Amino acid sequence: MRRNDEVEAQRRRWTFYETISIGEFTMVERFIRCRQCNQILPVDRFFGDFEAPSLLPGVEWSDEDLNFRREFTFSHGNHPQEELRIDPETIFSEKPGYEPVKTSYFEATNGRQKFLIKRMKPGLEHPARYEILPGQMKISNLAIKIQEADLRRQISADPTSSALPPEKVSEFIAAFNKEVAAILPCCLFEAIEATAEGDSPRFIYAALKQERWEKILDGCARNFQASEMSWIREFIRNHRQPGEVLSVLVHRKISFLAENSPAPANQEILVLHP
Ligand SMILES: [Zn+2]
Repeated sequence: MRRNDEVEAQRRRWTFYETISIGEFTMVERFIRCRQCNQILPVDRFFGDFEAPSLLPGVEWSDEDLNFRREFTFSHGNHPQEELRIDPETIFSEKPGYEPVKTSYFEATNGRQKFLIKRMKPGLEHPARYEILPGQMKISNLAIKIQEADLRRQISADPTSSALPPEKVSEFIAAFNKEVAAILPCCLFEAIEATAEGDSPRFIYAALKQERWEKILDGCARNFQASEMSWIREFIRNHRQPGEVLSVLVHRKISFLAENSPAPANQEILVLHP
């Protein structure tokens, strides 16, 4: 292999073109790590067999993406490898969730050891790049709150909200508040089923598990008529996803625990790890 080819191959080892949903973490859940070189290859749930991804119906993979996979297999195929799984509780980005071009951090584990992974997405047309960083990231959930003002606005704006008298609205919100207040911030992930990034790294939106909604509904059932219960059930179905008015807002604190801490350029993030 010529010198320039080697440089190019090295560059490509660190890139991965995402053709399905740019900027979403949901597509990449696992990595293959070369234990000898400490390099990683993102694997998403659609890939399955590395060699046949282009055969998937409706999916077009860029040449760069496919080359990257072939080169990883070529360079590290004879090295010891292991699978890393992303810990979805650790995803932290320097920009809001709706912004695809950004730098993010998260942890992945092989079951015994955790790895801090940095994901860079320099532009919409550029592949995301992943690398393992030394050190650890610590995310603490400080408080969990409902979005009461937005929730009341959404209910008022609903054309069918006359089905629920104002005192029942307050009763529903009180039951919702009570259930959320019972969630310990340290045990957040036992109570929720999905999250979305907020407008700043200090916040995420989280959707409650169905069992939590059932408890809230049980709290209302005593005083509510059947038609009011079905209105509430429908409203919950329509507005419970992360980012919607029935998702809870989680305040977080993020710190990096190593000397060689990643230091994103964004000034707001610097505040988070002094
Ligand atoms: Zn290797």
